[in-house]
Amino acid sequence: MTARYAVFGQPIAHSQSPHIHAAFARQEGIALDYQAIEASPADFPAELERFAAGGGVGANVTAPLKEIAFGLCRTFTSRAKLAGSVNTLLRKDGYWHGDTTDGVGLVRDLTERHSLDLRGRRVLLLGAGGSARSVAPALLDAGILELIVVNRTSERADELVDAIGEPGRAKTRHWEDLHDLGDFELIVNATSAGRDRNATFELPKALVNSMTTAVDLNYGEAAIAFLAWARAMGCRNTVDGLGMLVEQAATSFQQWHEVRPETDPVYAGLRARNALAGEE
Ligand code: NDP
Repeated sequence: MTARYAVFGQPIAHSQSPHIHAAFARQEGIALDYQAIEASPADFPAELERFAAGGGVGANVTAPLKEIAFGLCRTFTSRAKLAGSVNTLLRKDGYWHGDTTDGVGLVRDLTERHSLDLRGRRVLLLGAGGSARSVAPALLDAGILELIVVNRTSERADELVDAIGEPGRAKTRHWEDLHDLGDFELIVNATSAGRDRNATFELPKALVNSMTTAVDLNYGEAAIAFLAWARAMGCRNTVDGLGMLVEQAATSFQQWHEVRPETDPVYAGLRARNALAGEE
């Protein structure tokens, strides 16, 4: 049976993942069958079983299925266990092994593509959803000094920080207190607020200093509001989520095919095509 790969999500039609994985496979001379499969949260467990029965050996999972996918795995990487969600599934001896590659993808994009030294930085993380839970430990592992997590629903930020268990370095604050937090060298938007066309980003200017890099995990239209705010406030650098998208995909690819593809040509192609309107 041919080995099959896929990305599951809802909606999934605009996903860039089939294009990215096809480009990696061409580069490595691997014949790849990688499809986008739409599945609702209710249908996903059965769809995933059907996929496995039909030769499915690896899958990416995107919104809103990452936490459900976590519940369908028998084993995990330690970072997936900490995040409580997975975006990468690998079939092993008749069961699913789960990983989360979003956080390491972001760190690789920032440190290698954008040459940012994260060590000793004070970082503000906006959001406490599945991607924030992957990103927070990865930033701490990269050597940042302090992480402040702020989420619209503050209980979710508390849960995220409790799971990390480093009270000296990772803390939460309420959204209403953003004007009292001082300034940050890195501000990461891990919310999906930008997907709402009517959303605006009304964050205090006091969060920004002359060295601040602002990062949006989103790209395309969903990143416009936050990155426009960041530029208007005088942030030194602004980075969208396109590089992270390619890096997290490369880490998934590496787990399935035991080779890490070159990401720069794929990133450049995506940027040039301005293929920005899709899901991760
Ligand atoms: P989740 O649905 O798990 O979390 C959404 C987060 O956004 C929550 O913290 C939620 O807060 C917050 N939020 C939603 N609407 C608003 C609003 N109007 N104001 C303030 N906060 C809001 O999503 P993910 O964590 O999986 O993804 C977050 C974003 O990052 C998505 O847009 C996704 O496309 C993007 N992403 C990009 C990746 C890439 O490779 N570039 C990889 C992964 C994600 P609350 O808890 O209060 O609901």
